[in-house]
Amino acid sequence: MSPVVFLVDDFFDVDDVVGACGALPHDEVIPVGTAVEPTTDQIDLHVAELNANLKHEPCAVVGVGGGITLDTAKAVSNLLRNPGKASDYQGWDLLRNFGVYKIGVPTIFGTGAEASRTCVLVNSDTRVKLGMNSDFSLFDEVVIDSSFASTVTPQQYFYTGMDTYLHCVESLAGRHRNPLSDAFSRSALELSREVFLGGQMQSPGNRSKLATASYLGGMAIAGSLVGVVHPLSAALSSILGVHHCEANCIAMRAVSNFYPDAADEFWAFASANGIEVGTINGAQLTDTELASLRAAMLAHERPLMNALGDGYRATLTDATLDDMFRAL
Ligand code: NAD
Ligand code: ZN
Repeated sequence: MSPVVFLVDDFFDVDDVVGACGALPHDEVIPVGTAVEPTTDQIDLHVAELNANLKHEPCAVVGVGGGITLDTAKAVSNLLRNPGKASDYQGWDLLRNFGVYKIGVPTIFGTGAEASRTCVLVNSDTRVKLGMNSDFSLFDEVVIDSSFASTVTPQQYFYTGMDTYLHCVESLAGRHRNPLSDAFSRSALELSREVFLGGQMQSPGNRSKLATASYLGGMAIAGSLVGVVHPLSAALSSILGVHHCEANCIAMRAVSNFYPDAADEFWAFASANGIEVGTINGAQLTDTELASLRAAMLAHERPLMNALGDGYRATLTDATLDDMFRAL
């Protein structure tokens, strides 16, 4: 009989979760830690272990958790049916085969990983963060229950929730637009404002709105591109190890020239919910660190062109980039 592979965020009691899902003894359960974001080596290791342990190909891969767990589940599903290594498929439309049937159960809301056509991995050799962007990276089925998010800390709830807000702000301000993505983005922004300006961001009603905004934001970004915030944030993740959603929020200290209204609104959201956004002590960065951060940010050419046009380097000079990083 074909087993099911469960990947479960280790915040949860893994046995309880898979028990509630009706797991059988021959199913495989992998707890997923969230101290670091998923790497290509980790995915290769999971897949090698599954191929060694399982007698039959799994009939489904189920991810229960935040973006780290959902992306790990997507990547494992893809690699079970595509030969080679995870890093072979980082980029656009490189996967050749459908993965194993994949089911996503988000337990925290904002990344839109439950809806998007990518799974973001840190390349273990180059440290560049890049997704397997492909129709094969879409979940076949998603189960959304916003009550899961009742146990998330307010800080993390805010950081992750802001990801959908920023996906939509950057998408709507970009050059690579289409009416469908715009409509998803506008709806997600409206819901985000209700959640983060309406008081009690984590009330049952607001959790449900944020779960909806996350899904819509994921759909929006599936057909459009982000802008300046995400490349800046990706540099903080790949060079300094700051997690994606926190890194986005830290990046908001340096983007008011590009997104003046959204920057004001973002800080109003933080203050309305008593959230103190972290810092990287940017003023202390050395020249070597600044050079690495610049290179890591500039590796994300597509979103920078989406935001600023082909001549984005005329705006983002080395001196401007250094000032931006020092402001974080
Ligand atoms: P996460 O997986 O990073 O988890 C954040 C923290 O929340 C962890 O400590 C986790 O254990 C905890 N957590 C999760 N659910 C919880 C719950 N119900 N109660 C209490 N704690 C809970 O969460 P995230 O912010 O959703 O994901 C970030 C990741 O998503 C990054 O790796 C990023 O690169 C990726 N991402 C993917 C996409 C995509 O389209 N695939 C888009 C954006 C970001
Ligand atoms: Zn994001």
